[in-house]
Amino acid sequence: MATTIPTQTPSSSRKPQISVIGSLNIDFVTATPRCPGPGETLTATSLTVSAGGKGGNQAVACGRSSFTSQTTQDVSINMIGAVGAEDPYYTTLLQPALEKSGVDTTSVEQSTVAQTGSATIIVEEAIGGENRILVVPGANHSGILSDVGKILAALPSHRSTPDVVVLQGEIPRSTTLGLLEYFNDVSAEDRAKVVFNPAPVFPEGIPLSALRGTAVLIMNETEVVQMARSIDGLPVGDVVEGDDLRPEEFAPRFHERAGVEIVLITLGAKGVYFSTKTGRAGIVAGIKVAKVVDTTAAGDTFVGYFATAVARFLASGRGLVAFDDEIERAVSKANAASALCVQRRGAMQSIPFAYDIE
Ligand code: ADP
Repeated sequence: MATTIPTQTPSSSRKPQISVIGSLNIDFVTATPRCPGPGETLTATSLTVSAGGKGGNQAVACGRSSFTSQTTQDVSINMIGAVGAEDPYYTTLLQPALEKSGVDTTSVEQSTVAQTGSATIIVEEAIGGENRILVVPGANHSGILSDVGKILAALPSHRSTPDVVVLQGEIPRSTTLGLLEYFNDVSAEDRAKVVFNPAPVFPEGIPLSALRGTAVLIMNETEVVQMARSIDGLPVGDVVEGDDLRPEEFAPRFHERAGVEIVLITLGAKGVYFSTKTGRAGIVAGIKVAKVVDTTAAGDTFVGYFATAVARFLASGRGLVAFDDEIERAVSKANAASALCVQRRGAMQSIPFAYDIE
């Protein structure tokens, strides 16, 4: 494995670095009055093709959160992912969206054996815009994303930087477990801190041992229930929505049993429950918005903004324990970004730039 270790300037003057390792998708969204039956052809209302994938969305959120003004970017972000070679959707949609958000795409592999991942989304207007989604993982499940050694070689330098690695659940489980194991080696203090958003939770779950030492675990109300089952060795299963979740009952399990340093449970409009290994906990209320237009990418926006706050802090030379004093401020800013996101239509295009947030 090729590894270059650049000379570091003193930590206080270093530019923070984030690597997002994850999925890139093209979303095909068809709105239709109703779904066709077997063998039936229907005229639909509209087709929208847009850039997506949780990895891509979170990279864009990291990128946009790093623009303190229209021309100043104070964090470097690189995307490690894969798409189909010479895919016009990548070159005309995904790549420009990433690059205009300040994300370096040189480590996006051009696969000659797999297509760009896609999500075909049918929005049925007759039943209040209910979604039916078909995902083809394509390149997100092959090549570099199925090879931990290749991923580590693609990091800017996996010894001293990046400061933060962001992971989600849309790449192979074996790769995620391999990366968690590598970065969570608590004896290697110079390794990146992992911000892990287990979304979607793998059907086979994540074993307790893989989470040991994870710096930041971000889950929504469904994911936290599934992850709690998973570390108890129980089947992940489905979660029936509607029950009022008591986050304070769930978060300590991840600190006490898995050693996770910061647990964040996003609660939709209610905001976010935060909890640290050192015992700090509470809710940072969500921002009230006049009209919710589309909640797609709200969670990804939150993850990207929070990861950027962590990276800035670590690059200033302070350890994650000291971040306890900053956590509420970082959550508030990420809540504000997500609240802007829910007032805009679409996924990637709805993620705000930092200079848009009051
Ligand atoms: P996910 O999109 O992953 O299911 P949530 O629904 O918990 O995650 O939303 C993530 C974050 O987005 C919330 O913690 C909150 O900051 C923001 N958010 C979501 N829905 C709303 C809303 N209706 N009003 C304001 N903020 C919202």
